[in-house]
Amino acid sequence: MNVGAVHPEEVRVLSVPRIPLPAHPRVKQLARQVGLLNADTGGLTAGYGVIVRLDCAKNLRLLAHESVHVAQYERLGRERFLQEYIQQIAGHGYLNAPFEQEAEAKAIKACRDLSLASIRSESPKIHCNEGARFMTMASKNDKRGW
Ligand SMILES: [Zn+2]
Repeated sequence: MNVGAVHPEEVRVLSVPRIPLPAHPRVKQLARQVGLLNADTGGLTAGYGVIVRLDCAKNLRLLAHESVHVAQYERLGRERFLQEYIQQIAGHGYLNAPFEQEAEAKAIKACRDLSLASIRSESPKIHCNEGARFMTMASKNDKRGW
């Protein structure tokens, strides 16, 4: 599944029981306030480092979403990405931030393409049921990675 990362081989995925919240109380409060991090957060990307919640570790849509963020980091560099990302969240809100919209759109397309490819090759091994289920949850409960 290629969603545009130039160096996908550099990506490291760490599965954790819960995505850690910032230790600083004010930062934690701000992260929650803008919808960036909460108890339902499934994943988080920092450069080539991707942290996913254990129960989301096989969620292809979430992994694709985080991979798009890797590509965004590559495109802009860490500082510029983070500056722009924070401005987008502040200006548009988390769900409507252009980086988030791009990550969702490309992740959904990648899962759809993968499903179609598996149907064409009649291989039932590769599919995106986890992603589809997660998307349903995400639209209901706003559970997404960032
Ligand atoms: Zn995201």
